[in-house]
Amino acid sequence: MPEYEPVIGMECHAELLTESKMFCGCRNAFGGEPNTRCCPVCTGMPGSLPVMNQKAVEHVIRTALALNCSINPNARFDRKNYFYPDLPKGYQISEYDTPIGIKGWLDVEVDGKTTRVHIRRVHLEEDTGKLFHLAGEENESFVDLNRSGVPLMEIVTDFPPDMRSAEEARAFLMKLRAILTYLEVCDGKMEEGSLRCEPNVSVRPVGSDTFGTKTEIKNLNSFRAVQRGIEYEVERQSKLLESGQQVVQETRGWNESTQATFPQRSKEVEQEYRYFPEPDLVPLSITNEWIESLRSTLPELPDARRTRFIDAYGLPVYDAGLLTDTRALADYFEETARRCEDPKAAANWIMGDLSRLLNASSLDITACPISPENLAGMIRLIAGGTISGKIAKTLIEEMFTTGKPPAQIVEEKGWKTLTDPLALLELVKQVLDDNPQVVSDIRQKGLVQKKGFLVGQVMKFSQGKADPKEVNRLIDEYTRE
Ligand code: ADP
Ligand code: ZN
Ligand code: MG
Repeated sequence: MPEYEPVIGMECHAELLTESKMFCGCRNAFGGEPNTRCCPVCTGMPGSLPVMNQKAVEHVIRTALALNCSINPNARFDRKNYFYPDLPKGYQISEYDTPIGIKGWLDVEVDGKTTRVHIRRVHLEEDTGKLFHLAGEENESFVDLNRSGVPLMEIVTDFPPDMRSAEEARAFLMKLRAILTYLEVCDGKMEEGSLRCEPNVSVRPVGSDTFGTKTEIKNLNSFRAVQRGIEYEVERQSKLLESGQQVVQETRGWNESTQATFPQRSKEVEQEYRYFPEPDLVPLSITNEWIESLRSTLPELPDARRTRFIDAYGLPVYDAGLLTDTRALADYFEETARRCEDPKAAANWIMGDLSRLLNASSLDITACPISPENLAGMIRLIAGGTISGKIAKTLIEEMFTTGKPPAQIVEEKGWKTLTDPLALLELVKQVLDDNPQVVSDIRQKGLVQKKGFLVGQVMKFSQGKADPKEVNRLIDEYTRE
């Protein structure tokens, strides 16, 4: 029985972060009262005319540059004609054979193996409205045109497809999202639909050099769903072929509750759209000066930043990867590291306790109640011996709930390390007096391993405030004679 190899290509749509929509002055924002951000242009009223949003064009050029594409100086818009109730004009303004970005690539890593995913095109179009279907007797449907005309960027991977596993497709999408958010062209929120992706999946017998019939999966709104959806399709298609049946080329939806894909519609052919150049807009005519001035605005991208984190801060590859996941997180780390001069400690606290606290309250790093200054302050308190690492675990929780600076909390709670030698000695003696058997075991029988118990008792009675090094030294001294 032949083993089957998955083959995957991706079409991704990203809603662009602009103030206004693509061809009119309506505000571009998510949600809101239905049909409150519309005008004659984005509701397709006869006689209205589109005006191009320069910012959106620049976002696409910058993205194309970041994805190593060349820029088509003669890009222009076309009409893609089709009827659907969420498309009031009866056509979508898009780019057909003259996309802004052509022939780029993106490297993705899975399990230490790098795959170069080639990109065929990056183009600009407008989003459609949204339909809502109410269940029930009336079978009513509603349309919300707030999203109609929102600038939308499409990124399509090249043929022949490069990806060979669901993990690779997921990694591609994560990398793409990181780049888009670093560029600040898209907020990357899959759950709000600002980043949507349609994997194209086929399978073929291992060793084959032709490609099988593909299906396209829609409605995937999380990384997890992307991975699961692809895995499901690979298995479904492999079983079909194994049993001598054929894969039908079609678009399939993803059902989150059954974790399965289902047939949606068979593939429309390109000719049905009757593409033709949009007569109401001038061609773009993108000059070299414009491209170069946009290139100079590109931020340090995730891969470059990760390499720098390894080289400049001496972070392990794993830490550097995690911390450069989003630009905000990377900024947070750098600001903390700069202020505490201990990058590894900063990395550990951010990836450990801080991430846990953020997750538990469903907060993003941008809404973190602990400022980088305060986190750095806490790390300095530990380094300077003012508090123990153990107290710091409690302190960070307190900082998270109150937002107060660490020094203030330590002062208010009396969490300073016990450094007064007399007070500490008092405590140690008390513990020795309370545990004569242990002390004699150590002194007479040489059971030095029991010292740990005594140290633990002192730490407990000091509520974690005693300096463990000093406690160890005192216990050594007083169990010796
Ligand atoms: P369509 O016109 O059906 O949208 P495209 O030719 O535009 O198809 O390709 C869309 C995506 O599907 C691209 O990323 C492409 O690489 C990928 N693709 C094409 N053929 C296959 C295949 N047999 N298996 C998997 N992916 C494919
Ligand atoms: Zn409008
Ligand atoms: Mg397609």
